[in-house]
Amino acid sequence: MLDADFFRRWMTATATSVDREAERLTALDSPIGDADHGSNLQRGFRAVKDALDKEPPATPGAVLTQAGRLLISTVGGASGPLYGTLLRRTGKALGDAAEVDGRQLAEALRAGVDAVRQLGGAAPGDKTMIDALVPAVDALGDSFAAARDAAEEGAVATTPLRARKGRASYLGERSIGHQDPGATSAALLIAGLVEAGG
Ligand code: ADP
Ligand code: MG
Ligand code: MG
Repeated sequence: MLDADFFRRWMTATATSVDREAERLTALDSPIGDADHGSNLQRGFRAVKDALDKEPPATPGAVLTQAGRLLISTVGGASGPLYGTLLRRTGKALGDAAEVDGRQLAEALRAGVDAVRQLGGAAPGDKTMIDALVPAVDALGDSFAAARDAAEEGAVATTPLRARKGRASYLGERSIGHQDPGATSAALLIAGLVEAGG
């Protein structure tokens, strides 16, 4: 079973990997965006980690809704509301249970990903974070490691795609040949599940 401390460790592991990869995320956002994705998420996940360290919420749902709220208020850009919605909606779907199992997490995360799709209007293949999140949620029933691998593959597979949503879509054909920064950071978020250790 996954308790509030597991979810805190998930967010903390993500904060650590976002810190480590911030320059790479910003570099990916340079040719097809405005070169701020790493710094945007770094600011957001640092705020999440600080808040969770200071006063850890009592339930899995509360950890994620608080993290989502903080991302919305600190990240800005397109990715702030999208990641914020992902975590808030996932947290809401977990309700106020003290512990959840892997299947409940998979269902809740699917609800979160659906909310991101609704908010941003992106479908799989549009070269966004959705291209990492959807395969991850599909694989989550197997294991966290399977979800991590699926997200990473999904992120890499955005390279030959033409962007249809977000800033990169303004480039049209010229967005082809670059890996999407948001799909790359989404893979870090999913890898955090493995690092948090079920
Ligand atoms: P901004 O584009 O405002 O500078 P970021 O650089 O932080 O925001 O985030 C860019 C990432 O957000 C993209 O790489 C993409 O994965 C994701 N993104 C942008 N628009 C959408 C959307 N409509 N739906 C889903 N993801 C999106
Ligand atoms: Mg950007
Ligand atoms: Mg920006």
